Amino acid sequence: MKLRAIIIAIILANCINANSQIIQKHAEPYIDTINYYHKLFNDATDDLMENHPADDLYKNIWTNDRINPYSTPIDSLNDSIHIDCSDFHLPTKGYITSKFGPRRYRYHFGTDIKLYVGDSVQAAFSGEVRIIDYEQRGYGHYIVVRHRNGLETVYAHLSKVLVEIGQTVKSGEIIALGGNTGRSSGSHLHFETRYLGNAIDPSTIINFELGSIRDSIYVITKGKSFYYQSAVATQKATKYVTVRSGDNLGKLAARNGTSIRSICRLNGIKETKVLKVGERIRIR
Ligand SMILES: [Zn+2]
Repeated sequence: MKLRAIIIAIILANCINANSQIIQKHAEPYIDTINYYHKLFNDATDDLMENHPADDLYKNIWTNDRINPYSTPIDSLNDSIHIDCSDFHLPTKGYITSKFGPRRYRYHFGTDIKLYVGDSVQAAFSGEVRIIDYEQRGYGHYIVVRHRNGLETVYAHLSKVLVEIGQTVKSGEIIALGGNTGRSSGSHLHFETRYLGNAIDPSTIINFELGSIRDSIYVITKGKSFYYQSAVATQKATKYVTVRSGDNLGKLAARNGTSIRSICRLNGIKETKVLKVGERIRIR
């Protein structure tokens, strides 16, 4: 009996010590999702039926139709935001088929993971299902989960959804079966991590090769988490046109309010180049 009491005392002392370390670490002001997480689970007076996860953070915005209804510009975020990722579970085991980053015509805001139709897809963290929807030309069947740690995750191209809107899910719970629906060539899971609607490269949070979280506390900073914003702005500003019959560089320049020299520089071509019908030329 005495030994058991000593062991319990040691465990308790360790817990208190671990907690105080976290508090000290976060002495500067930041959006406190960690304390919110503890509040949800420890405060019996909280009505879990009416409060969605991270409601304080998301200003009670809870819609079932839009992935990003929050209109929160990245510039308005605090300099560092601490996210408790300790209850992470890998959504599906598989190698990465496409990374977060630029694609030819649109930015890819997720990580693609190989799976086979019917493979299970698991919630990355605990939370509540916010969106279940279908997009024929995009995500196919997809789910969005709001997590207690403040992140939201997107699971797309699913073959079968196994949860309902508003359902509470635990980290690692099977929420869907993977598939190849929507704009997808080959079965895979398109997986996104977002904070207040803004996409974060999942591979900065998760080590997909090892199947584990990189750090139990992920610190969102503008430099690390949203490094891609200037590339997105550039891509949005980029414009291509298709050469029509009778076009030459002069006509393209005049029609698009630019100069021959600028078009040549953007495309790495000479001013004497003869354009082919159907060829794509970058204008901006
Ligand atoms: Zn994808």
